[in-house]
Amino acid sequence: MGSPRTVIVGAGIVGLCGAYELAKRGVDVVVLDQSATFDSASCGNAGLFSIGHYPLTRPGASWRGLRWMFNSSSPLWIRPSLSPDLLRWLWTFHRHCNDAHTERCMRTLGAMGWRTIQALEEMISAESINCLYRRSGWMDLILDEANLDAAAREGRSLAPMGYRTDRISGAELRRRDGAYRDEVAGAIHYVDSAIIHPGQLVRGLADALPRYGATIRKGVTVSGLERDGAGKCVGVRLSTGEVVRAETVVLAAGIWSSELAKSAGISVPMQPARGYHVQLEGVSQLPVTGGVMHETFVAYNPMGNQLRLAGTLEIAPTGRPWMRRRLNALVAGARKYLHGIDGGRATAEWAGYRPCTADGMPVIGFARSTPGLYIATGHAMMGLMLGPITGRMIAADICGESQSIDPEILGAVRPDRR
Ligand SMILES: Cc1cc2nc3c(=O)[nH]c(=O)nc-3n(C[C@H](O)[C@H](O)[C@H](O)COP(=O)(O)OP(=O)(O)OC[C@H]3O[C@@H](n4cnc5c(N)ncnc54)[C@H](O)[C@@H]3O)c2cc1C
Repeated sequence: MGSPRTVIVGAGIVGLCGAYELAKRGVDVVVLDQSATFDSASCGNAGLFSIGHYPLTRPGASWRGLRWMFNSSSPLWIRPSLSPDLLRWLWTFHRHCNDAHTERCMRTLGAMGWRTIQALEEMISAESINCLYRRSGWMDLILDEANLDAAAREGRSLAPMGYRTDRISGAELRRRDGAYRDEVAGAIHYVDSAIIHPGQLVRGLADALPRYGATIRKGVTVSGLERDGAGKCVGVRLSTGEVVRAETVVLAAGIWSSELAKSAGISVPMQPARGYHVQLEGVSQLPVTGGVMHETFVAYNPMGNQLRLAGTLEIAPTGRPWMRRRLNALVAGARKYLHGIDGGRATAEWAGYRPCTADGMPVIGFARSTPGLYIATGHAMMGLMLGPITGRMIAADICGESQSIDPEILGAVRPDRR
């Protein structure tokens, strides 16, 4: 068997979208993933395809994180630690939580939003993927009138990029959808976005790949990157010792990309932000669309006859035991907004990691110091949404097509990231 032209490490949404776009262009692709099942963040997330979303580095976000640091039930929690990597990351994150940086990010994210939903819709339709996709927008559900005013202002700030929002009163909301409780003062409807079953999307994509000649090997752990004497990346080494050679390696291994990049001497500083979901069956009134409960940061998404509640952001090293109180906080956080939550039975519980860079933007581009290596990670809480456009960017770069997205803010070398 000849060498595959491109090896992709990671069968999450980013790796699979990259593989799909490359394979459609006739590139020989192999995707390697350490998990034998589909259980990554790409499958367990909230399923909000929220285009035009702001990055994590919002003005005030770092101070809020600091305030919540000592309350492990709060929506955002940082496990106190003196790890130099964490302290450096926190300081860099804090420096990026300002208006100028947010504006700069949004110039790129705003454009990516329109392109990613187009890529998604083309992919779903071409491959007939049944993933409960609905272009129904998402709701920012709000209890407090003052929060409603601020959220409406935030929604309007997206108008120059073409994103529409609609302010809906509590009474109108309940007239449209009986699932919402009287306590909800109103909502901001992000009209252009969509909801989806992320696990079904990922499986659908994985099923589509062989039709274009791509291969997926599951249950295969990559232990390091292989380089030749000149420093070019020429493949990957598996934990079994097998070497899989390639002209180009795409590192799309979510939070684990940092460790693997380190094996080639490349620094991709990220922190894992763990989130959870609980899936409820038997909720008496399922909402028609999905959204976020503003004050508790819990996302909700009706999936068939079940309701997925997802959220919490816990910055702590990977592999620590789950925190039951954070799972419970999802249900408690939904009670005030939605009817019938207490009648729901949990059919699934899950936790997974968002890969978070310190400047809030993903890393998408060739690692300049190591020819043959492409990095696509760091999508934090927007990876499902940015996955399809990231896939197109990976394929365009590797196939030498022109690229219209700002490489400086996304590139693998960003001097101000540390
Ligand atoms: C609770 C929660 C809710 C979220 N909600 C949303 C949402 O509504 N909308 C949205 O856009 N985003 C959301 N996100 C974020 C989104 O899920 C992530 O940004 C996205 O899934 C990251 O995708 P990825 O492909 O980069 O990484 P992953 O999904 O983590 O995939 C990486 C893959 O690499 C594999 N891998 C790792 N190391 C190795 C190795 N050494 N060898 C081989 N394989 C390896 C892993 O097994 C995994 O399958 C949410 C995240 C969480 C946790």
